[in-house]
Amino acid sequence: MEAMTKSAVLILLGPPGAGKGTQARMLEEKFGLIQLSTGDLLRAAVANNTRAGQQAKAVMEAGELVSDEIVTAILRDRLAEPDCARGVILDGFPRTTVQAEALDTLLAETGRKINAAISLEVDDSEMITRISGRFTCGTCGEGYHDSFKQPATANTCDKCDGTEMKRRADDNAETVAQRLVAYHDQTAPLIAYYDAKDALQRLNAMGAIDDIASELSAMTQRAIA
Ligand code: AMP
Repeated sequence: MEAMTKSAVLILLGPPGAGKGTQARMLEEKFGLIQLSTGDLLRAAVANNTRAGQQAKAVMEAGELVSDEIVTAILRDRLAEPDCARGVILDGFPRTTVQAEALDTLLAETGRKINAAISLEVDDSEMITRISGRFTCGTCGEGYHDSFKQPATANTCDKCDGTEMKRRADDNAETVAQRLVAYHDQTAPLIAYYDAKDALQRLNAMGAIDDIASELSAMTQRAIA
């Protein structure tokens, strides 16, 4: 594992399907950072039928953004857990300017700051293809794709030998289109937000997963050194 500054904070920006989750998992393994995906936290809240989950479910199914209050509260609680002191990769948060400002306040309160906000840059047309073919191992969460990354043995996870593969309910064409609209309207402005803070780094994320992973590792290494 690579050496890193204590409590590094890395943000992965990019539209749905840009590869944030896949790359965050890679960085988690390589640098020992904790992947914080608000999408995963919300899906867990829905599955556990918590109050936040009940409020978020229909919004997520429509491909719209869950309220800043709910998401920020979920993120704040997770960030306060002891393992996050090792440093975090934020995957899917912030998604609005209000969330970005809340994050700045939250980090300032705990003496932390953002090391880098890395924008994974991709074309919308490519996103639809990527999202519609993706699935994950229900046991360990490893990501796969019908066209780009099949498991070596059909329906068996390469990592953990799990045999239950899952597809997300919101990965259908109609919801994906709405998620892209939400991204362009509400999240893309964060690129300028972090650029103004001199925290932004751009990465062309149209290539092969492994090539993007190498470039992203190098960027991360520099950002958290
Ligand atoms: P993701 O797994 O990041 O693609 O998120 C799936 C869905 O969860 C999104 O389409 C939103 O409905 C919701 N969601 C995840 N993160 C956020 C966030 N930071 N703000 C608002 N909604 C979110």
